[in-house]
Amino acid sequence: MMMFTKKMIEIRNILSQVGQTSSLTLPSIVVIGSQSSGKSSVLEAIVGHEFLPKGSNMVTRRPIELTLINTPDSKAEYGEFPDLGLKKITDFSSIQRTLTELNMAVPESECVSDDPIHLRIYSPNVPDLSLIDLPGYIQVVGKNQPLELKQKIQELCDKYIQPPNVILAISAADVDLANSAALRASRRVDPRGERTIGVVTKMDLVDATRGASILMDKQYPLRLGYVGVVSKVPSVSGGLFKRESSDLMTAISRNENAYFSSHPLEFGPESGVSVGTTTLRKKLMHVLEQTMSASLQTTSDAIRQELEEATYEFKVQYNDRPLSAESYLAESLDSFKHSFKQFAEEFGRPQMLQLLKDTLDQRVLDQLAARYWNKPISDLSVPPPEPDNIADLPKADPESPYWHRQLDACASALTKLGVGRLATTVVATTIQSHIDRLISQSPFVNHPFARQAITEAASSILNDRFYSTSDQVENCIKPYKFEIDMEEREWNQGREHVPHVLKTELDHCQAALKTLESEVGGKRKLKEVMNYIDKARKGEIIVEGEGRSGAGGFSAALLAKGREAIFLRDRADIINMRLHAVKSKQCRSMKNKYYCPEVFLDAVATKLAATAVLFLNVELLSEFYYQFPRELDARLGRHLTDEQIEKFAKEDPKIRRHLEVIRRKELLELVLDKMESLRQLEGRDRVKRGRD
Ligand code: GDP
Repeated sequence: MMMFTKKMIEIRNILSQVGQTSSLTLPSIVVIGSQSSGKSSVLEAIVGHEFLPKGSNMVTRRPIELTLINTPDSKAEYGEFPDLGLKKITDFSSIQRTLTELNMAVPESECVSDDPIHLRIYSPNVPDLSLIDLPGYIQVVGKNQPLELKQKIQELCDKYIQPPNVILAISAADVDLANSAALRASRRVDPRGERTIGVVTKMDLVDATRGASILMDKQYPLRLGYVGVVSKVPSVSGGLFKRESSDLMTAISRNENAYFSSHPLEFGPESGVSVGTTTLRKKLMHVLEQTMSASLQTTSDAIRQELEEATYEFKVQYNDRPLSAESYLAESLDSFKHSFKQFAEEFGRPQMLQLLKDTLDQRVLDQLAARYWNKPISDLSVPPPEPDNIADLPKADPESPYWHRQLDACASALTKLGVGRLATTVVATTIQSHIDRLISQSPFVNHPFARQAITEAASSILNDRFYSTSDQVENCIKPYKFEIDMEEREWNQGREHVPHVLKTELDHCQAALKTLESEVGGKRKLKEVMNYIDKARKGEIIVEGEGRSGAGGFSAALLAKGREAIFLRDRADIINMRLHAVKSKQCRSMKNKYYCPEVFLDAVATKLAATAVLFLNVELLSEFYYQFPRELDARLGRHLTDEQIEKFAKEDPKIRRHLEVIRRKELLELVLDKMESLRQLEGRDRVKRGRD
């Protein structure tokens, strides 16, 4: 039966990962007692190390679930905090520091928390036990402590001292048992005293006769009895006491033995009372084993039921579909790469050309607006001084240096606007936004971590290639900065294309006008204010002191809208006029390029875009298509640890529930398996014992 408790503790730890429902817990020993009753000293005497937080300032604020694991074949003694991922801490003062920090992290205003700290101690000197240390009961609430603290401690302890747990009720010999908070609490939940072990500490502080009578206490009978201990660490004269486990254990038991054996009458074998830490340790092992054994059947029944529920849920909700964090990640990554491949097939040179051309079209429009369309429309009706007369533009003298200069300036502004940088930026931004779109349509949309990893994978490649690409593009369009050779074919293409650009711009103007109409409250209203401004401009009416409140019966805001509308109307008129011009006969021939700057500039923009695309394709797009899937693998594939993958998968609540139900099922199956084999072992043991 040696291994029984160990195995059961193992099972208990697995069960605690399943998620705590009270029916699924295996018994543990719960240690309760008043502050300063000697609770810590007893636990440390059992473990053989000082490791619990010390101090008067409510140092135990959270339950400490302590699992002792006997390792007979190894000398090493160490502790582990599984929740913190802290392993093999051989320095017990470091365990003590960690425990202190964990406890002190609970703010003074709350003082206690029911979130347990898990600590495992491995040693050849400890028995297999599972113990829970709880905050000590207090008599009076301290100055900075919450008033309800007493009650909070009590509630916390009450939660733990429920069946099937064994209660280790610590009382000090120098305090009347009638005043023992531990016994009082035990009596409330275990009135017949069936699962409480009484420990009386500080036996050395009362005289032996009285001590012995406490242990035989008839007033509070406990089926599992009382054990008296002296677990104070003896002070050692002549230097520092080196606290190694065996030393501390030996020192305590020597001190304890010395005391008890000096009173053989009261505490000797004939006395009928139990004393000593060694006796206590044995008793705990025995009682825990018995209790565990007794709960084997009920617990395995509960587990079986729980397993049935999990299996049902798995079938109904998830169609028995297997899933693991790794497979989920791999599938998601595959499907993402697949959709990326589709995108790569759809976004190539022609699409890039279109994109650049659209961008440059806007720049062409800017140039036209700045150099050709920037005169108020009213100028058209007034004969202006030569050669600023744009109303005559279609008839503009091809020999006039003015029109030459205008067109040269426009073309030069286009070629020198930083096409390399602009084109690279436009393509890179477009790729990045397509990647964002792909993410939003993929399973990764619910995973902040993966989303970021993918975005960064894309931006790191694009950023890496940015400068060299934009330099190369800039370099290869350089010749156009000095001279633009144009073929008839290119001219014709421009002539075909530019009406669409102008038409779109015209539509924009008209749409903006419509918006203005609805903003001011109708077409008529806008017309009125526009009429007023028109007349004022022509000097047909005198405007007196247009101020903040407006003029002519119109508010300042309305006048502003009116001016905007006039601008748009005039712009639309010009564009209309130019639409006619570019479609006219004159623009058919490249020779008339000064009449038709729109056509010429459109052709220039096409040349620039086409050249840029050649290099963008090689330097940016192809590289990106090659590197991106590899970068994805690097960031979301091979390099992730199991924990990261798990964390990733659980970011999606649906996947988390799916994974959890599978894990729960697996753990329950594992536990049930282990319990079944334990039961068989136990059965065999019983038969064997019967035969012996
Ligand atoms: P806790 O607050 O219940 O954990 O109590 P501690 O274990 O910290 O003990 C409180 C005080 O009682 C400490 O100063 C211990 O040294 C002392 N103490 C504990 N056990 C004994 C004992 O068996 N005999 C004597 N004389 N003092 C003890």
